Amino acid sequence: MKFNDFKYERPKIGLVKNELIKLVDNLNNANSLDEALSIIKKYHKYEDNFSSNVQLAYIRHSLDTNDKFYNEEKDYLNKVLPEIQEYSVLFQKALLDSKFKDELEKELGILIFTQAKLIHKTFDPKIIPELQRENELSNEYSKLLASALIEFEGKTYNLSEMRPFSSNINRDIRKKASQAVSAWFNINIDKFDRIYDDLVKVRHEMALKLGYPSYVELAYDNLMRTDYNKDDVKTYRDQVYEEIVPLVKELVKRKGERIKIKDLKSYDLTLSFLNGNPSPKGNKDWQVEKALEMYQEMSEETYQFFQYMVDKDLLNLDSKKGKEGGGYCTYIPSYEAPFIFANFNGTSGDVDVLTHEAGHAFQVYSSRHLIPEYRWPTMESAEIHSMSMEFLAWPWIDKFFKEDTNKYKFDHLSGAIEFLPYGVLVDEFQHEVYENPKLSPKERRALWRNLEKKYLPQKIYDNDKFLEEGGFFFRQSHIFTSPFYYIDYTLAQVVALEFWSLSQEDFKKAWDKYYKLCTLGGSKTFLGLLEEVNLKNPFKKGTIKEVMKPINKYLNSINDKEL
Ligand code: ZN
Repeated sequence: MKFNDFKYERPKIGLVKNELIKLVDNLNNANSLDEALSIIKKYHKYEDNFSSNVQLAYIRHSLDTNDKFYNEEKDYLNKVLPEIQEYSVLFQKALLDSKFKDELEKELGILIFTQAKLIHKTFDPKIIPELQRENELSNEYSKLLASALIEFEGKTYNLSEMRPFSSNINRDIRKKASQAVSAWFNINIDKFDRIYDDLVKVRHEMALKLGYPSYVELAYDNLMRTDYNKDDVKTYRDQVYEEIVPLVKELVKRKGERIKIKDLKSYDLTLSFLNGNPSPKGNKDWQVEKALEMYQEMSEETYQFFQYMVDKDLLNLDSKKGKEGGGYCTYIPSYEAPFIFANFNGTSGDVDVLTHEAGHAFQVYSSRHLIPEYRWPTMESAEIHSMSMEFLAWPWIDKFFKEDTNKYKFDHLSGAIEFLPYGVLVDEFQHEVYENPKLSPKERRALWRNLEKKYLPQKIYDNDKFLEEGGFFFRQSHIFTSPFYYIDYTLAQVVALEFWSLSQEDFKKAWDKYYKLCTLGGSKTFLGLLEEVNLKNPFKKGTIKEVMKPINKYLNSINDKEL
């Protein structure tokens, strides 16, 4: 069966509720451990079936946001999901109250009980209206971004299609492209401001109703961050500020020399080489073919996995009008099918999808036989698999980049480092926003711009009033639709950089560690997973400095002006 044959069926809210009530009742009245286990198994089956339908609706909607049928399905699901959540939470409660809890813990692991506690703590039927409102606003934001049509040099483009122009070797084109994008955001500035303002307020309201001091603590619980708190994250951000910001300054200086521009402006930063950024040397189909070759050689497991993705049409990679922007990987449990969504545009970002998103997909595929709760780890752990796969692909990356291979490697590794300050900026911004929910939209934008000056001093805007006043964050969709999911990328990046070093020393050893991590899925917490496979803890002071040593050495050994 291919993706198009996967059957979507609207989950009928009444039936779902009845099924859940029955399961809760049965679990409460279970007379033996075996009985309890078999009810939990039934619950997992229901959950897989339900989430498969939800995923199918969401995927098909994102493939064509103008599709009337899936538009309606998405609206319907956004509305009923919080109502159904009420009953799933009852099941979690029954799990916590089970008289067989100790034995169940031994069978299923302690983590699902920790999760159950958080699910219970972060939900109350009284926040259903706020959850529904939050869904509507997120949806409105995504639609607004997808609706972007930018007139440029006589043609019309969406935001993803504009990206290649922002790294064009012609400075004038870069500048004009950047201005054209800013102009579109500026026309819609009131809409973005209003959507974000409403989101902040509705999230703050939810937190108060649940008894949290602010949305920050609720967000940590929503993201199931059980082994670190906002103070650990602050210490971590400080490490990035102290260790990475000066390093990036050095890399930016090298870039300026390389592309022969003394007064670097923000629109110059996306260009890495005067003779153009590294790009894949073939179209989408050619790249998929190369990816298949790569995964075949990498390991038996990756070969089987990627062939499966291709055979079942689980990669949707072309950029199209009406298709949602960005890229993601998700999973349809009933068909044991990971799904990769992207918008190819001819840049090296295309290859990143075939490695990054494929890393996510490979992990979930490797943990498909675990219980649903353990199939995906928490976000900061999930990004380890994807970002490390980008580095594990290095021995084969010449297949895609040919003569641009060395350029790609230098750019990829330095890009990974340049990303860290941006990532912690997105995080610090959100802490400030939700700790001070009364800020006006204008104050929020000013806050963003101030943090840019702290973490990204190289961002010098050239008379771009919109960006100067802090509008850049409008295009960072996580800030709107997945609050606080961002530091995760940077934490994972630090671990992935460790994988880079390990794979340089001994690829097979690094691969075995990586594969073991993939099969563990989300059966442990972030720090638990790192400990299990003996990887460094990024929160520990000194880790970033340590991890950066071999990377620095490598970057300094490259004569980038010759690339
Ligand atoms: Zn990812």
